[in-house]
Amino acid sequence: MHYTQKNLIEIKEKIKTKIDSLNLSGYEPKVIAVSKTFSEQDILPLIEYGHVEFGENKVQEAQLKWPALKEKYNNLKLHMLGKLQTNKVKNAVEVFDYIHSLDSLKLANKISNEIQKKAKKIKIFIQINLGDEGQKSGINPSDLEAFYRQCIDLKLNIIGTMCIPPDNQDPKPFFKNLLVLNQKINLSEISMGMTNDYLDALEYKSTFLRIGTGIFGKRIR
Ligand SMILES: *Cc1c(COP(=O)(O)O)cnc(C)c1O
Repeated sequence: MHYTQKNLIEIKEKIKTKIDSLNLSGYEPKVIAVSKTFSEQDILPLIEYGHVEFGENKVQEAQLKWPALKEKYNNLKLHMLGKLQTNKVKNAVEVFDYIHSLDSLKLANKISNEIQKKAKKIKIFIQINLGDEGQKSGINPSDLEAFYRQCIDLKLNIIGTMCIPPDNQDPKPFFKNLLVLNQKINLSEISMGMTNDYLDALEYKSTFLRIGTGIFGKRIR
């Protein structure tokens, strides 16, 4: 068995054990295998194993790796997780099925334009800057409700919210905060939890766990 398959199976077992211990039967979060920097060779065993959710953080890299794979395996779902520049939206809309990093009205407008041109359905998460960190992307929590309404006016299919908690801090207060915000605007999906904190994210009902290192190993670039 390929090491990525082994890693994924182990992770899914840990998720199941945690969910059982929380008494949350029926709760089935999805695992996005974050394949950034890894090649088709590393990705293929997981696809052949039947995994369908994959994530990248750069449009250009995704364009090089995924169109051929998606043509061959037509049930694959590709998630854009990284900062999205407006000049890359056209290409992003072509290759991705989900965007987790909607973080400005300018970007919302651009995505809306491209989606309508291509008549493509893309599912979108609003990224929230919970740590109030100047250098990090995301909508300020106090602006979320107004921003969400603007997205609806632009006919964007907003399905949830996403966060990346600050490094070297307990992520739980941030996960809790995002769950509360998500419920406030009545969205069903939450994108939070990575290799180091995905089990914590389950306590706050994350529905999409974004796991890279835990599945593919350490990134060398
Ligand atoms: C790379 C990345 C991940 C995965 O990180 P790991 O720690 O390797 O699991 C998750 N989310 C985003 C936005 C990323 O860029």
